[in-house]
Amino acid sequence: MTDKAKSIVRRTGWPDSSSRAVVTPLQPSVVYASESPDALDAQYEGRAKGFTYAREGHPNAEVLAQKIDRLEGATGGLILGSGMAAIAAVMFGLLKSGDHVLGGNQLYGRSMRMMREELPRFGVETALADPTDAGAFAESLQPNTRMILLEVVSNPTLRVSDVAGIARLAREHGILLVVDNTFTTPRGFQPFEHGADVIIHSVTKLLAGHSDATLGYVAARDATHRKAIYDTAVTLGLTPSPFDCWLAERGLYSFELRYDRAEANAVMLADALADTPGVKRVLYPTRPDHPDHNRAVALLGARGGNMVSFEIAGGRAASNALVRAAPDIAFAPTLGDIGTTLSHPATSSHRALTPAARAELGMSEGFFRVSVGVEDIDMLIGEFRAAIAAAAG
Ligand SMILES: *Cc1c(COP(=O)(O)O)cnc(C)c1O
Repeated sequence: MTDKAKSIVRRTGWPDSSSRAVVTPLQPSVVYASESPDALDAQYEGRAKGFTYAREGHPNAEVLAQKIDRLEGATGGLILGSGMAAIAAVMFGLLKSGDHVLGGNQLYGRSMRMMREELPRFGVETALADPTDAGAFAESLQPNTRMILLEVVSNPTLRVSDVAGIARLAREHGILLVVDNTFTTPRGFQPFEHGADVIIHSVTKLLAGHSDATLGYVAARDATHRKAIYDTAVTLGLTPSPFDCWLAERGLYSFELRYDRAEANAVMLADALADTPGVKRVLYPTRPDHPDHNRAVALLGARGGNMVSFEIAGGRAASNALVRAAPDIAFAPTLGDIGTTLSHPATSSHRALTPAARAELGMSEGFFRVSVGVEDIDMLIGEFRAAIAAAAG
């Protein structure tokens, strides 16, 4: 090694500056050097604050967690590598073999798989029930029911859960109520005010908002639960990437602006679609023709969210034509991006179901789900009307 190169490998730190950066720093360090064994002891025993190893926590995750905590009225929330990592941390952290879990029968696809396939392999019993009917949940209770997993607004038919009834049931029976608040977001719904014990988010979606970071969030009311979830997450290695956390924090600055705009657009798009020839049916929670309209208004007020679903006549050919006629609207099975995206449940989220099972849930080949973005609404309505006309012609 040349003399010049010898010192290059030493990390010399950051240049001095009497001015400070305005942007949150990105810290990708995996390890943190402590001053002495005593200092490390103090950190591990909680007498001193400090990071040690990124899997156990890092600054970019903490900055992001604290911001989402503020939105949810939570403390000690945790950021994980994806929404599913958050669900896994809750399930594996709080359940044990012999427990029973009850979930809504229209949960997010992978959550459904967690219930049907993964948990039973570890001796956890599961059942699914109609979340719009607290009576159905009551009938599915078992003496060993330990947890209920609920989404407030279901995908993609946008049914509104009977949160009040199910929360009452959970309270009466000492069952943990876990709410996946991804669709509704803290702007639309505050689970802790409605009896939830644990809140989960796919931060990937509306909170981060730009389809460039995959992250999850979990917050528990009870400190013992928080510790159990944290320990399981660290053991299973559900660590989020610092860069993703950094991106998501930046996305979060505009979350409320984006959400309000996207929601206002969704209301107008839903009304416009209902008025468009070739559209058989429009689903939007606060529209008077929605099957759960009264509950939506009672639970969410005017906050119907940014998701709209609709159905056109015709089979796969008409659906292909619609998507091809709207090249500027990303046909992509996600939601919550700043721009409008379109998904087709029959070939994506619900492709594993038989056509008959899909029909039972109200999802034909002509059924689409729209995650409405912040674009100019007249442009958006024009694009959808043209695409629907193309599908019909
Ligand atoms: C996307 C989503 C998830 C999973 O989140 P990932 O970040 O994709 O792992 C969980 N629940 C709901 C309601 C979702 O929409």
